Amino acid sequence: MRRPATLLAVTAVVWSSLSGLAAGSEPSQTAPSPQVATDIVPSSPVEPPDAPADPSRASAALRAPLDGDPLGLVAYPHDARRYSLTTDHFGVYVCTWPGADGDVSLAAATALLNSEVTPYFTGLSGGAYQPTFIARKVIILDANPGSDLQECADEVLSSAEPDTTDNAAFAVMDNRYNGGLATSGMSCYGNCTDIPSTSFPENQRWAVVDGRSVTPLASPPLPSHLTTSVHEIGHTLTWPHSYSGVTASQYDNPVDVMSANSTADGTGRADDPYATIAFNRYRSGWIDPGDVVTYRGGTLELTIAPVGVVGTQMVVLPTDDPLAFLTLDARIGSAMDAIPEAFEGVTAHFIVQICDGEVCSGTESAATMYPPWPNSLEHVTATGQQAVFDLDLEKPLIAQGTTMTVLSENVAGFQIRLVGFDDIGDSIFAHDIIWLATAGITKGCGATGYCPDDPVTRGQMAAFLVRSLDLTVSGSKDFVDDDDSIFEADIERLAAAGITRGCNPPENTRFCPNDSVTRGQMAAFLVRALGLTDTTGATNFIDDDDSIFEADIERLAAAGITRGCNPPENTRFCPHDLVTREQMAAFLRRALDPA
Ligand SMILES: [Zn+2]
Repeated sequence: MRRPATLLAVTAVVWSSLSGLAAGSEPSQTAPSPQVATDIVPSSPVEPPDAPADPSRASAALRAPLDGDPLGLVAYPHDARRYSLTTDHFGVYVCTWPGADGDVSLAAATALLNSEVTPYFTGLSGGAYQPTFIARKVIILDANPGSDLQECADEVLSSAEPDTTDNAAFAVMDNRYNGGLATSGMSCYGNCTDIPSTSFPENQRWAVVDGRSVTPLASPPLPSHLTTSVHEIGHTLTWPHSYSGVTASQYDNPVDVMSANSTADGTGRADDPYATIAFNRYRSGWIDPGDVVTYRGGTLELTIAPVGVVGTQMVVLPTDDPLAFLTLDARIGSAMDAIPEAFEGVTAHFIVQICDGEVCSGTESAATMYPPWPNSLEHVTATGQQAVFDLDLEKPLIAQGTTMTVLSENVAGFQIRLVGFDDIGDSIFAHDIIWLATAGITKGCGATGYCPDDPVTRGQMAAFLVRSLDLTVSGSKDFVDDDDSIFEADIERLAAAGITRGCNPPENTRFCPNDSVTRGQMAAFLVRALGLTDTTGATNFIDDDDSIFEADIERLAAAGITRGCNPPENTRFCPHDLVTREQMAAFLRRALDPA
């Protein structure tokens, strides 16, 4: 099992906002406002200072944020899908200045975007989204703005032709650095009286990138870094960064184009844009709701398919808050997702669309690697590995403690088994219960639960022991009272193994499958099943001297399977108490998994 060293809280995603926009005299709850995502230049690990939050945004009275998404997962889905389900026209601009490098050609940059970035998004969206790029104009700034990409954006906004078909601007700085800045434009957060325009510049939707994002370098020879171009367009589609939240950097998730796109040591081909997390694809409307599976507990095996392969694209593990949930997706290297083979597996991310107690969406929301280990692949579970989802990242999962085993990989994706229950969060034996289910010894009760407090019946005991010992042989013993029991086959195997004789000696014609099992009886079952004989070092419990199971209890204690019923003294065994299902999980784990 893989666990981080400490429990880590999700830190809030911090965004700078455009000062001046959406301010003024509008009624506060109807003012659309933009979200701006700032990307640092990789060689300069300095985050820009945070601007104060937009006050009109903070006071907005939000209504029915999940309306419009069939699965109720995406906050303000109409904002998220305003541009992502059709052609999306980007007017292309170049910002240059006296003495600039002069490396960036408007025509060449536009051609490269159409030949490389358009197919990337068309593939990632299954054909739903086609960004197109149209050369617009070269803007001459007074002087080199350095890393101030906002100055370029401001000039583009003020000089853009209002009568084009553009839905956004894509501007390129005439320099070599490689960072970017973007906004998804005006959003109404489900509460606009006027739907914001989808035309640029009215909608204030733009991306600015440094020159190397679209222009190869001659010296030293380096390809254009299209990852940054794709990343900024992702922001214009409302995609947030995904990251650990452990460090100050928002660029520490190796397998997301909306983060690092490679490990800290450069492993991976970072110049090729990787795919993004499944929730961004779902957010944009590119995953059919029928290809999403919601898992609330129980034992479930399914195949998760990677981008471009038909099948389940995302598994959601909910919390009790519809705005917070864990997502799983499959990552296999392909033309649409250029990850190296070592990055392949099932990735886990925790999505939170709550900011300071209010609903938030798009680039304001959080997508956290799970577990949150920066610059690592800990959140990627490869074939043969297991992951346990038991961290408390703001909210516990309904099936907290769910264990995922990646069973195999083939062209259809990864076959996984999920084991978890929705009713064991308060059980001190939760890990034993999960262990028992992962070992295939319990299937739970009902569809999603384990019923930890229920007493174990004799029929259930038969099933537990038959599965624990892998008993397959049925004998000739045919009890008269088990024909209606779903455990009849298990009961016959248990009798054939000599572990039960019946419940009505000396005839022993009956098994009493619905009777509850006492702790004393349980001792006898386990001692017979495990063939325990040694009593060396056993606790001499003070309350079992008149029990017919005293010898069995001592053998069970000698084997370390019971410690007693009154911790921490543990001077008693309580032989007449009924065994609960959660206790049975602990007993069986100690018996079968002594480590
Ligand atoms: Zn970014």
